[in-house]
Parts: sequence; C-alpha cells; structure tokens
Amino acid sequence: VTQLPNRRALLAQLNELLQQGQPALLYFLAMEGMDEIARLHGYAMSEALSLHLRDRLLDNFGGEATVGVWNTNKWLLITRQPLAEGAVGEQAQAILRCIAQPFAIDQVQVRIDARIGISHTGMPHQSAEQLLRLAALALPDTSSGWRLYQPSIEDALQKRIRLHEALRGALDNHEFFLVYQPKIELRSGRIIGAEALLRWVHPQLGFVSPVDFIPMAEASGDILRIGDWVIERAIRQLEEWLAARQVANDFHLAVNVSVQQLTRPDFARNLLQRLLRSRLPAGALEVEVTESGLMQNVDLARTQLQLLSRHSVSVAIDDFGTGHSSLAYLKTLPVSVLKIDRAFVSNMDTEPQDRRLAETVIDMARNFGCITVAEGVEKPEQAEMLMDMGCELAQGYWYSPPLKVEQFVEFCAA
Ligand code: C2E
Ligand code: CA
Ligand code: CA
Ligand code: CA
Repeated sequence: VTQLPNRRALLAQLNELLQQGQPALLYFLAMEGMDEIARLHGYAMSEALSLHLRDRLLDNFGGEATVGVWNTNKWLLITRQPLAEGAVGEQAQAILRCIAQPFAIDQVQVRIDARIGISHTGMPHQSAEQLLRLAALALPDTSSGWRLYQPSIEDALQKRIRLHEALRGALDNHEFFLVYQPKIELRSGRIIGAEALLRWVHPQLGFVSPVDFIPMAEASGDILRIGDWVIERAIRQLEEWLAARQVANDFHLAVNVSVQQLTRPDFARNLLQRLLRSRLPAGALEVEVTESGLMQNVDLARTQLQLLSRHSVSVAIDDFGTGHSSLAYLKTLPVSVLKIDRAFVSNMDTEPQDRRLAETVIDMARNFGCITVAEGVEKPEQAEMLMDMGCELAQGYWYSPPLKVEQFVEFCAA
C-alpha cells in the first residue's frame, strides 16, 4: 500500500517515542484475507480497502494514532498511551470491530478478519525492533482475537519448537497411523465409505492432535512426504479391505490433501499412476481439500483437480462455508462433494441461522450437481434435520468416531 507509513517510517516513529521516554502501545495487526482480496479483485480494490480501513481506524482513535503497513498482511497501529490492561482489551475489541465491518466497492463486498498482538513501552526491551517482536509474538493462534504479550507466550513457543523437531522424525520413526471414520448414507443408514484421518503418537510427547501438527507440517513443507505416506497407506488399506470383502465393492475412501500437495504440478499424475498400479476400482478414492486451501491457489488447484476428476477420483470441498470462496470460482472447479463444516451442524438444532446456512449449502450443492456430506453429526435430531433438507451423507460421533483398522472392520461387519 503506497500511501501508508511503511516499515521504516514506523520504526523511526517508535524510536523517537522511546528516546523521548513517551509511553506507547503497539498493536500488531495480522489481516486475514488481504492477499485473497488482492488476488481475486485486483490491486486497486485492495488499495481502496486499505485506505478505507486506515480511515476507519484513525477515526476510532480520534486521529491520536499512527497506522502503517509492516508487510502485505501485517499492519501496525501505534498510540501514545500508558498501559491500562482493561482499556487495552476494549481498544483491541474496537479495532477488531472496525476491521471486520464489511466493505463494499464496485458492488463487491469484502470482509477482513484480524488478529492483534499487543506490546507496550513499559515491557522489558532494548529497541523498537524488540518491542515489535514482542507484539508479533503475542499474535493469537486463533483466527481472530487479541493478546497482550506475556513471557509465558515464549515458553509456549519453546514447546512448539520441540514439537516441530519431533515432527521431523515422526515419519521415519513410524509414529503415524491412520484412523477411519465411517460415512453413512442418511436415508438407508448404510456405510458407503470412510474418511482417513492421520494420527501421531510420539513416544515422549504422547498424542498430538492433527489440528496442531498439520499446520506445522504445512509450514515446514514436511506435509508433502507425510501426505504421500497417507495416500500410500490409504490405498493399501482399501486394497486389503476389498480383497478380504470387508467392505462393499462401491465403498470409497477419502483422504485429506493439503494445498501444498495439491499445487505440486505432478500431484495428480503421481496419484493416478499409483492408482493404476493398484487394483482399486475407479471411483474408490476421493480427495478432500479445504475450501480455504483451494482459494489460496485456485488456478493451480483447478488443473490438478481436473486431471483427477477426469480419471474418476472424486473431489470433495472440506469445511465448506468457513472460507472466503466466491461462487464464481467454485463453479469452475470439478467438485462432486461439498462437506458442510461441523461448526454449522453442531448448532443446527438450536441456532436458526446455522440451520439456514446448512440448508443453503445443501441447495447450492444440488444446483452444482454435488452431493453433501454433513460432518460432526452428534445427535439423532441433527441427522433427522439434515435428511429433511436433502443432505445425502453424514459423518460424526452419533454414528462412529474415527476408528483404528480392527475396530473399523468390526463396525462394518456389525
Ligand atoms: P477435517 O478434515 O474437517 O476432519 C474432521 C475432524 O472432525 C476430525 O478431527 C474428526 O475426528 C472430527 N470429528 C468427526 N466427527 C466428529 C463429531 O461428531 N464431533 C466432533 N466434535 N468432532 C468430530 P481430527 O481427526 O482431529 O482432524 C482434524 C483436522 O486435521 C482434519 O479436519 C483435517 O483438516 C486435518 N487432517 C487430519 N488428517 C489429515 C491428513 O491426513 N492430511 C491432511 N492434510 N490433513 C489432515
Ligand atoms: Ca476432511
Ligand atoms: Ca471438515
Ligand atoms: Ca475441519
């Protein structure tokens, strides 16, 4: 963004405040979606949005703040204020509200989510850079919210570094395995397939949730090797089950694929070659790609998905309804399954708004010629409602949690 103070100007201002012994609060803002908006709607749009956001923020502080850009997605807001913890929280909330307000230009409506990390000149530091580092460290891991820097944040970071190191050896040390969650046809109650989910048990750290280690593996690039292993393992398992007639002939197995895997130019070709060497019937394997992952690189993803779907590997969009995807893009993708995110399903019976959202997704899927899978079905009332809405398939604890191989086979036999 050309018209906002840049990194150098921000540091200079902060140094000046420090030299004068003035108090200052640093709000480090991570704006989720800025990149996507620039990519989907163009540079002029993101520039207009940036200027608008700046004005909103400055209004909120009655002009008593500096707003500048650290890099594309990271902004900095500096105010000359002493630290008062309650007030900081209120101010952070106000900033979040400012940013999250939808913005319309040229009949396009966009929305930005933000996370805020906060530091203050009263915290131990030697330089403006260090204060900024503290604010950046304080950025919460959640998708939205704020956090004031505390030394314990650095302990947690140490733990993450240890986890990272452990993760690097996990594949070679055979610490991974797959579990399988049945997919049920709502009308008949029949098991028509399963989703393979990755599990990691480390000898010292114990069970680590994929919610924690998958993003790490994605960040480090390890997801490529791990993802290959998941596909290999899933194909072998499915061959075994079919050979032993433990599952029906039309059973299909879904694997989760990260955007890093999907955007490798040889991803689809490698997968198809592997499938050719297997004895699996066409259509036995499905890939699940998250909506947000897809939108990170729609064009590269589309090429891979088209090749897959032409060879009857079906494509499911995972966590549907949680991303910023535009329908225009969705229409250009060879998708055959939409998975309604658990977030909508779990509150369906109590929140009319979530129910309407689920209904909208199911209708949309029908218009696209897709089938819908509801995830996270935990109560029979939810299953009932989903069936009435025309949803075809369901997964969730009401039917079964993800199971180890032996239990899965028992579940299918029962
Ligand atoms: P996901 O693909 O959305 O998987 C669904 C998650 O919901 C799974 O969590 C599953 O155990 C959980 N779940 C299923 N039914 C219910 C229910 O009724 N209630 C509740 N509360 N939860 C339910 P899990 O296994 O912890 O996996 C979390 C995420 O990690 C997955 O979300 C997926 O995004 C990622 N993941 C798991 N395995 C792999 C993998 O092999 N590759 C990649 N790239 N990602 C994976
Ligand atoms: Ca999934
Ligand atoms: Ca999902
Ligand atoms: Ca999910």
